[in-house]
Amino acid sequence: MSTIPPILPPGVPRAFHLLAKPTGATCNLDCAYCFFLSKEMLYPGSRFRMADELLEEYIRQLIEGHRVPEVAVAWQGGEPTLMGIDFFERSIAYVEKYRRPGMQVMYSIQTNGTLIDDAWAEFFKRHDFLVGISIDGPQALHDAYRVDKGGQPTFAKVMRGLQYLQAHGVEYNTLTTLHHANADHPAEVYRFLRDECGSRFIQFIPIIERVPATALDRADTGVVAAEAGQVSATHWSSWRDRPLYRQEGEFVTDRSLRPEQYGDFLNGVFDEWVRRDVGQIYVQMFDVALANWAGEPPGLCVHSKTCGLALAIEHNGDLYACDHFVEPDYRLGNILETPMIELVASPQQQKFGQDKFDTLPRFCRECDVRFACHGGCPKDRFLTTPDGEPGLNYLCAGFKRFFHHIDEPMRIMAGLLHRKRAPAEIMRWAQEQDRLQAAAFASAGRNDPCPCGSGKKFKLCHGRYRDGM
Ligand code: SF4
Ligand code: SF4
Repeated sequence: MSTIPPILPPGVPRAFHLLAKPTGATCNLDCAYCFFLSKEMLYPGSRFRMADELLEEYIRQLIEGHRVPEVAVAWQGGEPTLMGIDFFERSIAYVEKYRRPGMQVMYSIQTNGTLIDDAWAEFFKRHDFLVGISIDGPQALHDAYRVDKGGQPTFAKVMRGLQYLQAHGVEYNTLTTLHHANADHPAEVYRFLRDECGSRFIQFIPIIERVPATALDRADTGVVAAEAGQVSATHWSSWRDRPLYRQEGEFVTDRSLRPEQYGDFLNGVFDEWVRRDVGQIYVQMFDVALANWAGEPPGLCVHSKTCGLALAIEHNGDLYACDHFVEPDYRLGNILETPMIELVASPQQQKFGQDKFDTLPRFCRECDVRFACHGGCPKDRFLTTPDGEPGLNYLCAGFKRFFHHIDEPMRIMAGLLHRKRAPAEIMRWAQEQDRLQAAAFASAGRNDPCPCGSGKKFKLCHGRYRDGM
């Protein structure tokens, strides 16, 4: 048993976030783009089940390592529900054993939803779990990549699980990965999450699957150069044979989200949200952006100046710098050998977090939207800048497209916040913009510049469908 050192090392944070992976990367599904699955190769021969002794040790160290009155116990996978309800009942018993008086413990779990039934939903409700459901949109978009081990679609099972949660009044949110198949459909995806899933907190995660050039001789299809045109796709599954657990490669699979697609997707969702849903529906990326525009902590590592306070613990107690860096170079140690808090505060982890800022290329440092972007996640920084410096984020073009698009409404919302008024007042502004634009379209001449600002003639832009033009 590792004990908390009586004198804490310098730089120990008062709180941190840890994602626990009790089944490691093991999952009952076989989503085509899943980067976790290949990580099973990190632990050859393992049963991928967190042992009971480790579970108790993990909970104890997590609670003792926090010097704030709230602790988050967050489960993720692979698929954590494969552990069964008894495992989670025991985790709660350990929390009760170690929590300090007055300490509030918040439970959350990220799941594909397919195993949720009446018993799971009852359990989640009884212990106030926040359940994150992974769903990629309406049936055709979701089933494009989210299939089971037999290659069968999973949409119906996910929706069934969601219905159990709703029937029991469980608090839930949705996590949608963005990829080649769904990213051209922002309104369809957003309306589905809002109206069909009843999601009030929506998270989008870009799928970027890197492929090293050295491996191209093995699979000449299904990959695209990160900056070049698309190569036709076929089988990617053979890549599962490779140890893909390292972040490397200057190519991406053609399942991956394109940078511009990302920007256009977020813009499409934003345009609907800002007209009718502000204050009702929380889209993580918009909340984060508003915080950055308002000069508040954004609450999401990806668009923070530094990171390093969101770590991952594997089924055997190995602690990693981040859930996206569960790879050998980023293993900090094992909590059975070294106290968790020492690993969290280790120089290696502090450097990991600080590097997010220190390694920004000049192109980013001089960027007009750096205050909102902060260069994105380091795992995606594999492009070179126009002046040849490495370390530019693959999604840069999408970030710029999005942050420029929302600049004016974000300034207005940040101003409302500073005057202690509700950001939802922005919806009146958006509706007034629509009214003004409709009036401008109505009075524009065929050869006038289009009032939308595209730079095209009206007859070649928004005027194409007016008066039979
Ligand atoms: S590496 Fe990326 S996902 Fe991990 S903590 Fe840093 S910004 Fe967040
Ligand atoms: S938008 Fe691009 S250039 Fe600007 S900070 Fe983000 S990644 Fe860097």
